Amino acid sequence: MNNVYYGKLVFELSKPGRVGYSLPKSEISGYSLNELPEALQRQGKTILPECDELTVVRHYTNMSNNNFGVDTGFYPLGSCTMKYNPKINEELCALPAFNRHPSTPVEFVQGSLKVYDEVQKTLSEISGLSRFTLNPYAGAHGELTGLMVIKSYHQQRGDNARTKIIVPNSAHGTNPASAAVAGFKVVEVKSLADGTVDVEDLKPLLGPDVAGMMMTNPNTLGIFERNIPEIARLVHDCGGLMYYDGANLNPMLGVCRPGDMGFDVMHINLHKTFSTPHGGGGPGSGPVGVRKGLEHLLPNPQVEKLADGSYTLQCGKNSLGSISTFLSNFTVIIRAYAYLLSLGKENVPMAGKLSVLNANYIKECLRSHYELPIEGLCKHEFVFDGLRPEFGGDHHDDSHVTTLDVAKRLLDYGFHAPTIYFPLLFHEALMIEPTETESKDTLDDFIAVMKRIAEEARDDREMVKTAPHHTPIRRLDDVKAVREPKFTFKNL
Ligand SMILES: *Cc1c(COP(=O)(O)O)cnc(C)c1O
Repeated sequence: MNNVYYGKLVFELSKPGRVGYSLPKSEISGYSLNELPEALQRQGKTILPECDELTVVRHYTNMSNNNFGVDTGFYPLGSCTMKYNPKINEELCALPAFNRHPSTPVEFVQGSLKVYDEVQKTLSEISGLSRFTLNPYAGAHGELTGLMVIKSYHQQRGDNARTKIIVPNSAHGTNPASAAVAGFKVVEVKSLADGTVDVEDLKPLLGPDVAGMMMTNPNTLGIFERNIPEIARLVHDCGGLMYYDGANLNPMLGVCRPGDMGFDVMHINLHKTFSTPHGGGGPGSGPVGVRKGLEHLLPNPQVEKLADGSYTLQCGKNSLGSISTFLSNFTVIIRAYAYLLSLGKENVPMAGKLSVLNANYIKECLRSHYELPIEGLCKHEFVFDGLRPEFGGDHHDDSHVTTLDVAKRLLDYGFHAPTIYFPLLFHEALMIEPTETESKDTLDDFIAVMKRIAEEARDDREMVKTAPHHTPIRRLDDVKAVREPKFTFKNL
């Protein structure tokens, strides 16, 4: 594995004068690549690698072989839904008919607008909300858009006193961040021991300065918020709106609808729940839905179906404005459409139920070895609080085996680590979300490895604490990386 290409930047493979092309000499004198007019020639040093084609091919192929993704192995990352993304989605979104210049007149992209409109309407049906926009680029962007809807709603009523957004302390980090970016003051509400919102802590926070409350349900611990009708009533009674973080809608699909629970505004991550490969900053889509009476606030442009069955783009004058270019990351929308149609209305609820079954199966099989802080049925994901004390996980002991150690050791066995140290409610959070697309064989394999790691931690603590041992790069010094960051390549 450690060949000449391994672990090098393409710049380190560069040799002066080496090229990956050959061009015939131009027949027009003065215009060959080698004879550019003086005034057009670059004066400074060019910072580009000089490599032959085969070196470039090997460089990228070796890099891609070091990648870990859902297509290479099990990826049980909590709060992220790394489900399998069927390849038919890729084929469909690569169809030439969908690859149009964004300024193409609407009469030539009627099919694309139909896809947009149907995804919009399907999401409304799934979530119980009146209307969606598919314009936001990602979950966090959807949150910002949704919060702008809430802000516009209050402003258009002439109520400018609502400056606060309430966010549970178990929330995904993007929630308080989006509220702050939208210009709100973030007020934290505590969780009870079972991870759900503490209604008694919420009550005194409510008043005429509250614009709304953001919630994730099931919350980031995978627990369904049973008090949601009461919470929604309290927030509505004080004049605020309820925001639903639907980034991980998996367990809800076809089972339960945010609109029916009293939520007014929500976002969905198409790239998590509706199968687009994601992570690493790739394209996403964070559609925002609103209840009846808030539709006019959604961002422009909006896709409308006309009475004659054709589609058009419209801009509403009371809309909060535009939040993206054209119709956003359209190929993610096509993938969601393909995924929804291939599952079909009858099978969508199976995705949610299976994801819940798989999570509970892993949880119950591993609780003998890992500390389970919250009892009872979880939804699509759950959180362990590190290893049990008898396996070296007692965090009062300074040399205990940590969640980080377990996560690193998992890499030796070829699994991606779960989400660690989130949510912040426990010392050693280890958050597992298997998704519905994994077979029982994979789940059993993962369970066996997790048990084995616990036994290793008990019997050979040092070995686990120095893992990984079989990955191309061993344990990194996180502290050094933070204290002495290097952002540039030394030879440039
Ligand atoms: C992933 C996630 C987000 C943010 O989505 P991005 O597309 O990464 O911006 C927000 N909330 C929750 C609960 C999430 O899991």
